[in-house]
Amino acid sequence: MKLNDKGLLVVLSGPSGVGKGTVRSALFKMEGHDLVYSVSMTTRGPRVGEIHGKEYYFVTREEFERNIRDGKMLEYAEFVGNYYGTPLAGVQEHLAAGREVVLEIEVQGAEQVRAKMPDAVLIFIAPPSLDALYKRLLIRGTESEEHIRQRIEKAKREINMAYEYDYIVVNDTVENAADKVLAIIRSEHATVKRTLKNYKKMLGVE
Ligand code: 5GP
Repeated sequence: MKLNDKGLLVVLSGPSGVGKGTVRSALFKMEGHDLVYSVSMTTRGPRVGEIHGKEYYFVTREEFERNIRDGKMLEYAEFVGNYYGTPLAGVQEHLAAGREVVLEIEVQGAEQVRAKMPDAVLIFIAPPSLDALYKRLLIRGTESEEHIRQRIEKAKREINMAYEYDYIVVNDTVENAADKVLAIIRSEHATVKRTLKNYKKMLGVE
């Protein structure tokens, strides 16, 4: 019995370094779901091991700005000197086919999704502490001291933005956080606002 015919758009967001990417990959390794990851476009250069089309579509600023002008981005933001954004076409296609699409994006982008697609489920991934966030950024070793400082300052401001979200998941352990995200997705499927219309149609009581 399928009560939702349209897919669910799930947004994982929160401060940089909070472990959104790790939570997302743990989520995708879990069994029993059929989630699709929306690969973002960015102007930042690839880190070691990152592959075009897998982690990101790596493009020039010129190309990114052309996509913005042509209305091809669902959302985008400039983050620490680079553009990041979600190509609209893929998301629309998957949702129309009834698939669950997961975005992993920073908070300005999440705000834009909220405005453009009010049906999306917004999940704020929060750090267990600022100290934990600092350590994670330091261990990652890909950022300069100045960049880390900027990211921490940004994270402090961003925590207040959780008020705009539907759920908050503290990333205490990656497994816990991924588990919670999956539980949220499952519960969202059973919400009255997403199912009642189709259910009534099925019962013939409209
Ligand atoms: P990183 O450079 O560490 O891969 O990503 C920097 C930040 O950009 C992270 O917070 C990441 O979640 C965010 N990000 C990645 N893709 C997108 C996107 O498509 N849109 C927005 N708004 N942010 C993104």
